[in-house]
Amino acid sequence: MRLQYVFLQISLFCFIILNSCSTGESSKSQDGLYVSGDFHQHTTYSGGEYSFGHVMEASKKYGLDWWSNSDHGGTRELWGKASGVDLGTRVTWESAGIKPFGSPQESEDVGFMWRWQSLKYYNFEDILIWRRVFPDKLILQAFEWNVPGHEHANVSIIANQFDAGKENCDPLAQFEYMFDDEDNDTTGGLEFGWKKSSLEGKEKALEAAKWLQTNYPMQAYAIPSHPDKSGEYLISDFRDFNNVAPDVFFGFDGMPGHQKNPTRGSYDLDEAPYPAEMNNKKGATFGGAGPFASRIGGVWDALLSEGRKWWISASSDYHADDDFYPGEFQKTYTGVAGKNDPQALIDGMRSGNTYIVTGDLITGLNFKVGKAMMGQTFETEKNNVKIEIEILDPDIQNFNTYSDYTNPELDHIDLIAGEVSGYISPSNPEYSKDNVSTTRVIARFDATGGIEDANGLVSRKWTDSGNSWKKISYQFGVSGNMYFRLRGTNLSLNSPEELDGAGNPLPDIAEENTPARAFSDLWFYSNPVFVEYVSEKGNSASEKQKSISDIQQGKKWYRGNTHTHATFSDENDTNDVPMIARWHEGN
Ligand SMILES: [Zn+2]
Ligand SMILES: [Zn+2]
Repeated sequence: MRLQYVFLQISLFCFIILNSCSTGESSKSQDGLYVSGDFHQHTTYSGGEYSFGHVMEASKKYGLDWWSNSDHGGTRELWGKASGVDLGTRVTWESAGIKPFGSPQESEDVGFMWRWQSLKYYNFEDILIWRRVFPDKLILQAFEWNVPGHEHANVSIIANQFDAGKENCDPLAQFEYMFDDEDNDTTGGLEFGWKKSSLEGKEKALEAAKWLQTNYPMQAYAIPSHPDKSGEYLISDFRDFNNVAPDVFFGFDGMPGHQKNPTRGSYDLDEAPYPAEMNNKKGATFGGAGPFASRIGGVWDALLSEGRKWWISASSDYHADDDFYPGEFQKTYTGVAGKNDPQALIDGMRSGNTYIVTGDLITGLNFKVGKAMMGQTFETEKNNVKIEIEILDPDIQNFNTYSDYTNPELDHIDLIAGEVSGYISPSNPEYSKDNVSTTRVIARFDATGGIEDANGLVSRKWTDSGNSWKKISYQFGVSGNMYFRLRGTNLSLNSPEELDGAGNPLPDIAEENTPARAFSDLWFYSNPVFVEYVSEKGNSASEKQKSISDIQQGKKWYRGNTHTHATFSDENDTNDVPMIARWHEGN
C-alpha cells in the first residue's frame, strides 16, 4: 500500500507538471490527458438485452477511451457471453449445464447464479477476452451494487484485475458476496475465507465503505448511481460515506443514464425527491441532470460548500434499445497521468479533475483558478483570483441519428461560485440540510456579450482562439474560502420549456422525452476548483502552512467550530491504512 501511495504522489506530481507546461505554452490542450469513459452499462448478465460482446463493441464505436462492465449484483439466470438479442439466443446457466455454487436459491430462482460466482468464473473471463480484442482500450470489471439501506452504486476494485498472467476479480467478487443486499448466499464464499457481513441496512453499507477504504483505498471507487431517483439517498448519507471512506466514496452521478427514455433518466416521479412542475406537468430531471447536481444551491452545492471533495459524473446505464449506447450521448472526461493505465484512471477519478458532457457539445476543457485545476485547491493571499477557461466546441458531427441537429453549438457558459465554510459535524442539525444559499451564477460568457438575464447579469464575450477553441479570462474578488464550477449549454436564455431567463434548466417533463429532444437539450458540467483565501493579517505563517498541508491531505475544519472540532487519527498507520476522518465533541 505504501508503494501505491508513492506511485500516486509521483503520478499526480507528473500530471501537474505536464499540465502546467502545456497550459503555459499553447494553452490549447492537455496533451491528451483527458480520457472519455462510461462506468455503468448492462448486458444479459443482469437484465440487459444484448450480449457482453455487443456492449463492448458499442462502447468502442461511440468513442470511449475506457469503460466498466457493471451488471447488477445479487443473482441472475443468464450467461452474458452467450445470450442476447444480437445473438438470437437466451442461454441460462441451467440450459448450459453449468452448476451454481453456494446456498440453494429461493424456489422461483432455481438455476440462478449468485453474482459473486458469475463475476469470478464467467464475467471476468469475458473482460479478459475483450481486452485482447481492443488492446488500446481500458476495460474494467465492475458491478452495480445493491447498497444495503439505499439503492444502487457502481463499484470497481482494480486490484488483481491487471496482474499479468494471473488476472482475476476476486476482490470484487468477495465484496459482492459480503455486502450486496441481494446476494443471500451464505456458504459459497466459505472456501475462500470470505466472511459475510452480519449487519443490516445503512450500517452494513458503512461497513462495506470502511472495508473498501481499509483494503483498497487507492484501487477502488464506489459511485452512487442515479442518486436522486428514488429518495434512498439523503445528503447525510453522502456525508457519512465520504467521512468513513474519503478515497473511495468521492462523488455521485450528477447526470443519470436512461436519457433516451420517454421519462428522461427513467425517474419515477412518485419516488424521486424534488420533482418539479411546468405547465401542470411533472419532471424530475433538468436538462438531463438530476436535481442534486442541476439545482444551484442544491445537494451538490451543499456538499461543496463544506469544502468536501465530492465530484459528479455521468453514465449511460445502458440496458436495451430504449437507452443510448455507452458514449452515444453522455461522456465523463477524466484527467489522467497516462492513457490505458488503470491506476492512473482511478487516481484521476478520485482527483476530481473531471467533467461531464452530453451530445459531444464540447470535447475539451481547461479550467483553472489561479494555478489549480478541477478538484484542486488554490491557496492565495490576494483579494482576487484569475479564472481561466479554455473550451473546445468541436466542428464535427456528434452521434445524433434521430434528427439533423448533429453539430450543436455552445451558446453560453455559466461561472458558478459558492462560499466554503468547513465540514459539518454529524451532530450538527445542519448535517442533514440539503441546500445552501451562498452559491450563485457570478458570470456568463457567450459569443457576443451584452445579453442581460432575468437577474440583471450581463454576459461577457469570450475570445475565439482558433481551431474551435474559446478562451475566457476573468478576475474575481475573494474574501474567504470559495469554490468555482462551470456549466454550459447549447440553449439560449428563455428557450421555451428548456431554459429559464436566469440560465437554469427547466424540468424534463415525464413521458415527453424523445431521443431527438434529448439531443437538442445539451449540457456540460465541470467539477469545482477550490480557493483557500489566507488573509495576510488573519493567519500566521505556521498556521497557513498547516492549513495548506491539511488541504493536501484532505483534512478540513468544521463549520462554526466553537464547540466541535475535527480530529484525524493516524492510529491505523501501522496497518498501512490512510488517515480516516474521525469525529469527537468538545475541545
Ligand atoms: Zn441502478
Ligand atoms: Zn444500472
